[in-house]
Amino acid sequence: MNFPRWSRLTIRMRLTVVIGFILVLFFLTTNLISFRVSTSALRHTILENELPLTSSNIYSEIQTDLLRPILVSSLMANDTFLKDWMLDGEKNQDSLTRYLNQIKNRYGSFTSYLISARTLTYYHFTGITRPIIPADPADAWFFRDGKMSTPYEVNVDINQEQKDELTIFINYKVLDYQGNFIGITGIGLNLKSVSDVMTRYQQKYQRDVYFVDSKGNIIVRSSGADVKGDNILTAPGISVIGKRVLATNEGYFEYKRDGEHMLLTTKAIPDLGWHVIVEQRESDAFRSLWRGFLTNIAVGLIGITLTIVVVSYAVNIYQHRLEQLTITDRLTGVGNRQKFEQALEKAVSHVGRAERSYGLVMFDLDRFKDINDQLGHLKGDDAIRRVAQAALGVLRSASMLCRWGGEEFSVLIPDCKPEDIAEIAERLRATIEVEPLFVPDTGQRITVSVGATMLVRGDTAQTAVHRVDAALYRAKLAGRNCVRLDEGNEAAAI
Ligand code: GH3
Ligand code: MG
Ligand code: MG
Repeated sequence: MNFPRWSRLTIRMRLTVVIGFILVLFFLTTNLISFRVSTSALRHTILENELPLTSSNIYSEIQTDLLRPILVSSLMANDTFLKDWMLDGEKNQDSLTRYLNQIKNRYGSFTSYLISARTLTYYHFTGITRPIIPADPADAWFFRDGKMSTPYEVNVDINQEQKDELTIFINYKVLDYQGNFIGITGIGLNLKSVSDVMTRYQQKYQRDVYFVDSKGNIIVRSSGADVKGDNILTAPGISVIGKRVLATNEGYFEYKRDGEHMLLTTKAIPDLGWHVIVEQRESDAFRSLWRGFLTNIAVGLIGITLTIVVVSYAVNIYQHRLEQLTITDRLTGVGNRQKFEQALEKAVSHVGRAERSYGLVMFDLDRFKDINDQLGHLKGDDAIRRVAQAALGVLRSASMLCRWGGEEFSVLIPDCKPEDIAEIAERLRATIEVEPLFVPDTGQRITVSVGATMLVRGDTAQTAVHRVDAALYRAKLAGRNCVRLDEGNEAAAI
C-alpha cells in the first residue's frame, strides 16, 4: 500500500479523471436529453399553438384593415345614387366627384373610382377622367373583371392617377336594376400603408408576416421579412412547400432556408383570395432555451470541478491516513519494521554518496518472557508501550524509532558522529532502566540490552542490521542491561 509518490499521483489522477468523466458524461447526457425534449416541446407549441394563434390574430386584424374596403366597395356598387347617375347618362360630373371624394375621406382609403362600361370613362375622386382603351394592356383588367363570375376582384396594380403607386384595388361590379353589367367601382389601398400594417403585425407578434395571392405571388410583406424572391413557388427554400401552402386553408409547415430551420403557418383569406403566412426562424425561438442550456452546462461544470477538487482532496487525506496506518505499529504508535527498512534503505544510499552520517541502534527488552509469564500479556503489552514512550523522550525528533518486532526496537539517528553513538545508546539504556517501569510485585526493573553501530560506506540495509544485531547479541551475552558497539565502533569508542 505504500506506493511511490509518482504512482500515488497517477492513481489519484486516474481516479479524478474517471470520476470527472462519469460526472461530465451523465451531466451532459441528462442536459442534452432535457434540452432536446424542451426544444421539441417548444417546436410543437410554436407550430401548433403560437404561430396559428398569430395568424388568427392577424386574420382578425385583417378583417378591419383589409376586408372593410371590400364592404365599402360593395356599398358603392349597390348605391342607387351611383346606379342612377350612370343610368341617367353620367351628367353633372361634380356630384359624382363629390360622392367619390366623400367615400375616400370617410373611409380613409387611398383612392376611389368609377368606370362606366357604356362610355368607357374612368372617373377618379380628384375629378380627373380618362378614357378606358380596350387595346391598352394597362386597361385589360376592366374587361376581364366585367366578365368575372364573382362580384368583385382584388387587384394589385400601379395607380396611374396617383404617381404610379402600387395599389390594392377592390374592383366591384356595378349592375343595373335588371342585373346587367354597367361598370366597376371601388376603393383602393396604398400598398405601402398595407405594408406598414404588416410591419405593425411583425412588431406586435415578433414574427415575419406576408401575404401571397392564389398564384403564390408575394403581395406584401412586413419589413424585415426575409423571404427572398417574389413568388413562394420559386423563392429559395419555401418553394419546396409552396404548392402545399397554397393548397391548404390552414396548416403548418417546416422548411430549410439558408441552412436555417423555418417554422411556418398559413391561413387562407377567402375574401381576398390570399394566404397570410407567418413564419419564424427556429433558432430565434430556441435562443433562450439554448442560453439556459449553456448556463446549466457552465454551472454544472463548475459544480463538477468543485466536486472533483473535494473528492481528490478527500482521497488524498484518506490515502495519506491509509499509508500512515500501513507503516505504523498499532501497539506503540511508532513506525513499524516496514517503515524502518525503507528509511534504512535511504540512509545507506545517503551514506554511500557520503551525503550524511547515520547511527543505528537496536535494543531488546531483557527477559521479557518472564515478565509476560508473571504479569500476563496485557501488562506485557503495556510495558512495551511505555518503553517506546521512554525511548522517544530521549531521542531528537529527527531520529526515527521503530518497533522492529516483538519486544525489539530499532533507532536510526541521522547526522550522528561516530564518537556520539555510544553515548546515545547508553542514554537510551539508562533512561529505560530508571523509568518507573519496574515489575510491581518483584520490584524488578525493566531493562534493555542495546547494540549500536555507524552506517559505513558499502553498507546495505542487511549488512547494517546484521552488524547491529551482532552487537545486541553481545550485549545479551555480556549479562544484559548494557550497551555494545559493533567491533569497528568499539575500537573507535575506546
Ligand atoms: P532475552 O531477550 O533477555 O534473552 O529474554 P527474553 O525473555 O526477552 O527472550 P525472547 O526474546 O526469546 O522472548 C521475547 C518474548 O517477548 C517472547 C514473547 O512472548 C514476548 N513478546 C513478543 N512480542 C510481544 C508482544 O507484543 N506483547 C507481549 N506481551 N509480549 C511479547
Ligand atoms: Mg528479550
Ligand atoms: Mg527478543
